[in-house]
Amino acid sequence: MDLPKHQEFLIGNYAPPPLEIVRGKGSNLWDSQGKEYLDFASGIAVTNLGHSHPHWVKNIQQQSAELVHCSNLFSIPEQVSLAERLVKKIGPGKILFCNSGAEANEALIKLSRLHGNQTKNKRSKVLVATNGFHGRTLGALSATESIKYRQGFEPLLPGFVFCRYNDLSDFEQSIDGQTVAILVESIQGEGGLEAASDEFLLGLETLCSKHNLLFLMDEVQAGIARTGEFLGYQKSGTRPHAIAMAKGLGGGFPIGAIWVDQQHSQLFTPGSHGTTYGGSPLACTAAHAVLDVIENENLIEQAKTKGEGFKIGLQNLAVQFPQKITEIKGRGLMLGLGLTFDPSLLVANLRENGLIAVGAARNTLRLLPPLTVKDDEILRALNILRSGLAQIKLD
Ligand SMILES: *Cc1c(COP(=O)(O)O)cnc(C)c1O
Repeated sequence: MDLPKHQEFLIGNYAPPPLEIVRGKGSNLWDSQGKEYLDFASGIAVTNLGHSHPHWVKNIQQQSAELVHCSNLFSIPEQVSLAERLVKKIGPGKILFCNSGAEANEALIKLSRLHGNQTKNKRSKVLVATNGFHGRTLGALSATESIKYRQGFEPLLPGFVFCRYNDLSDFEQSIDGQTVAILVESIQGEGGLEAASDEFLLGLETLCSKHNLLFLMDEVQAGIARTGEFLGYQKSGTRPHAIAMAKGLGGGFPIGAIWVDQQHSQLFTPGSHGTTYGGSPLACTAAHAVLDVIENENLIEQAKTKGEGFKIGLQNLAVQFPQKITEIKGRGLMLGLGLTFDPSLLVANLRENGLIAVGAARNTLRLLPPLTVKDDEILRALNILRSGLAQIKLD
């Protein structure tokens, strides 16, 4: 790795990288020294099929020889069929495509503006959760509480009110005549793998229908089969009005989308929103390939059963290391270890020993293996975790 050159030519908005990654296959990554790693980060919940899944690769190769991009001046058959497929998985409604999670949330925020501008007093306040994360664009950032992301970018967009996650009465008490929407994640990813309780989500839905608010769900990280449901909120039986998706949807090719229920799908009108790349033939082909593999390889069921097995292994570690592990969080293959110390210590140790994991807020180690992960890879990861935890010295 040429770190001096990296730092000479790349803007320093990321921490200096520990190594250089050059190849991936299945659950494995290789660095430029030829060292192999088990990838339990999946590019932050993106490469849900593992790296270079043959079906995904073949489809991208074929489509790139056919047509990569033509813009939304035209109808794109792959886009129409992908929208139909997503609607069948989520519920009656319509889809708008974009390129990232932040962009999907921007579209949800703009949807809430369109909804609010139809009301008598032009409502515009959005209730969002403490510890949530919605992306780095100014709108999505304004909906994100943590000072770590906000610092230096003020003034941000006004009108976002932070309420305690999983605290229904805090949300209820924060509703006033200006409130137009509620936006939450079903499981907080960056915030530390806190899962919304079913009662909380169902309660938010009730509040939204009572006060004519849009119920907006950010499924960018928890979505696309990762938690053992196609979207994380589906376990609760709640029904949001609109949903943001990205990360796992393209399996590594950038694509984002929002689903909007029938009732609110007419709010965007011709010319009111758009993006040059959103829903390109190639991006939609990548997402189709992801959905094919999810269906053909039963990845929703796999995420659930593999996740249950992995969780038992992690719970055994928690028994073995009570001074270091406080709790096991998340579900499916979106799991976290609550630690009594900064996870970066452990992340570095695990990487040395061939396991890639990623930290999250509130002393959490995040484990996001590909949904195609094999049982013996989970066992190997547990062994690396066990020796890593044993090596960490607490003072
Ligand atoms: C990653 C993430 C985003 C932002 O997605 P980008 O593609 O990085 O813009 C938004 N919401 C959640 C819940 C995320 O995890």
